[in-house]
Amino acid sequence: MAERVYNFAAGPAALPLPALEEAREHFLVLPGAGASVMEISHRSKEFLAIIEQAQQNFRTLLNIPDNYRVLFLQGGASLQFIMAPMNFLQNSGKPADYVLTGSWGNKAMKEAKRVGNVRVAWEGKAEKYVRVPKQDELDLDPGAAYVHFTSNETIEGVEFFEEPDTGSVPLFCDASSDILSRPIDVSKYGILYAGAQKNVGPSGVAVVIISDEMLARVPENLPAMLDYKNMAENASLYNTPPTFTIYMVMLVTKWLIEEIGGLDKMYAINKEKAKMLYDVIDGSGGFYKGHSQVDCRSIMNVTFRLPSEELEAAFIKEAGANGLASLKGHRSVGGCRASIYNAVPVEGVKALSDFMKAFMSRNG
Ligand SMILES: *Cc1c(COP(=O)(O)O)cnc(C)c1O
Repeated sequence: MAERVYNFAAGPAALPLPALEEAREHFLVLPGAGASVMEISHRSKEFLAIIEQAQQNFRTLLNIPDNYRVLFLQGGASLQFIMAPMNFLQNSGKPADYVLTGSWGNKAMKEAKRVGNVRVAWEGKAEKYVRVPKQDELDLDPGAAYVHFTSNETIEGVEFFEEPDTGSVPLFCDASSDILSRPIDVSKYGILYAGAQKNVGPSGVAVVIISDEMLARVPENLPAMLDYKNMAENASLYNTPPTFTIYMVMLVTKWLIEEIGGLDKMYAINKEKAKMLYDVIDGSGGFYKGHSQVDCRSIMNVTFRLPSEELEAAFIKEAGANGLASLKGHRSVGGCRASIYNAVPVEGVKALSDFMKAFMSRNG
């Protein structure tokens, strides 16, 4: 078999080897089912056990209160950008507040504008999205339908380590690139959603964690596939869900529980990995320049520049030749980005930090 590289892709991204191995072992026959998980009914008892286990794993990992549902919906995080406003902004007679710390928050806001009145509660664009706001910088409307923020801006590498305090206004969060990277207090959120393909599994579903209180506010007559209440009442099985993706999500979350030992442990590992790279950047005398302000730099997406675009291109190419893959920054911002999600092992990050030091001493 061809060798697996250390994969720093931003998404779809690295998956934990034990989850892939278990899927491979049961690829042809899911035990008890007589066929592959892809070949059985989404209403079979074997698949129902898988989707229920996946939900239960989220509950265990994030300590999700009983008055929240865990849904697996299609359309990725991008569909949540419009689904949430269609359920809670459209015809509400209220505005929605958006906190903009990078590219994805802007995309979310753009969709919301199609169906309602949107306010910018804070915007980091003039500073080139290098940080998150302090609480007293937020211009929040106490009468807003909700406040939306992006806990980790995947492209810029800017992360919130504490949620904005929105008082009694429901807090909505796009946590696509940092969900399950550390413990959070789910009770602070009205909706927390994430495309699976960064930290949770393969592409194909968005995980949506939503409170019963929000579900009770869903208006009548929304299109069935865009109606959170309909999806919750049908336990994410209103139509045929992406069964293989959900199976993989179950295996990835099982790995987090059984092999990593939960999110406190995962967080400690993630901080250790991020520190290895930021230490090289900080100690490089300016050869590597981190994008974000130190107190908001992401522990999932480490974004940095080199002294020239030529050196950046050489860095990415040489790293690739050394089994360190997908370090190119997003096309909209350039530079380099190492996505070090849960599944990227410490040894992979160590190999990258060693490579960064060696590259600098050859080119610095
Ligand atoms: C990747 C990403 C998205 C888009 O997710 P899709 O599942 O492709 O729609 C949205 N928000 C954030 C923060 C992301 O990282």
